[in-house]
Amino acid sequence: MNITLNNGVTMPALGLGVFQSAPEQTTAAVEAALAAGYRHIDTAAAYGNEREVGEGIRRSGVDRSDVFIETKVWVSDYGYDQTLHAWEKAAGKLGVGHLDLFILHQPAPDRFEKTIAAYKALETLLADGRVRAIGVSNFMPHHLTDLIAETGIVPAVNQIELHPYFTQPDVQAIDAEHGILTQAWSPIGGITFYPGWGEDRRNVMADPVIAAVAGAHGKTPAQVMLRWHLQQGRSAIPKSTNPARIAENFDVFNFELSAGDLAALDALDAGVRNGPDPDEAREERFAMAIPEA
Ligand code: NAP
Repeated sequence: MNITLNNGVTMPALGLGVFQSAPEQTTAAVEAALAAGYRHIDTAAAYGNEREVGEGIRRSGVDRSDVFIETKVWVSDYGYDQTLHAWEKAAGKLGVGHLDLFILHQPAPDRFEKTIAAYKALETLLADGRVRAIGVSNFMPHHLTDLIAETGIVPAVNQIELHPYFTQPDVQAIDAEHGILTQAWSPIGGITFYPGWGEDRRNVMADPVIAAVAGAHGKTPAQVMLRWHLQQGRSAIPKSTNPARIAENFDVFNFELSAGDLAALDALDAGVRNGPDPDEAREERFAMAIPEA
């Protein structure tokens, strides 16, 4: 299933995420995903596995031109010249001549001018054909409004935390208003159950309402959540390094949720973020240096 972005480029709606995929597991995960039918991979400079993503694509035998590669600029590389150089690092590690989608990883509110300069570099990369589409991640409505006021090209994508317990309707609404595609990170709620991230979290994967919908369709909770994203027009990038779960997460094109099912999942929104607040400056994390290619 493809989605047409606001600049006419088409992107497979469902992709493989690789956050927390150890480098030594990433190549095999990408190969397994491409064998299962995925044609979209979402990585980031900050994940430290762009090289292994590129290797997985090459080993798969799938043509580079058939794979949609999305990656992200980390905050320490914000600024016009720095972000142009961040493209060299990313493309070099991935071993590709162009990126399909290049996005800013965070709004970085303590250095918003540098964030704007970074976005202007993305506009240059787009004009040069070094990227096919540009976008942002974790941008809240006020960040988007400020960005759009100061730059020329509306982002194609805004990648945000989005699962049944946290759906950010305000962000989805402003994205839609501007023709920006909302892309869900933690689409099956990973951030609510990552091992070691806090035992007190409510695990969306264990939700009884989702289990009931899944049971009624003979599908798994993960498949139901992914279908919910797709039927509501979002892109989703579930992460797994397990070949069976990678295949399970792509086996979502043979059933249909009813309007009642969709509403039942919508009603689970608790309005509570699990990931970091995009308005918070996280100095130590932001300062992480991204190695050269
Ligand atoms: P997620 O995809 O919602 O969930 C991943 C977790 O679920 C992993 O622990 C995975 O473990 C497990 N899992 C995968 N498939 C499963 C299944 N079918 N049944 C049960 N468990 C399953 O969470 P995420 O990794 O946070 O988000 C996905 C992607 O979004 C990331 O990989 C990254 O590309 C992106 N992301 C972006 C940001 C941002 O700030 N822009 C933040 C977070 C994530 P196994 O690997 O063991 O299967």
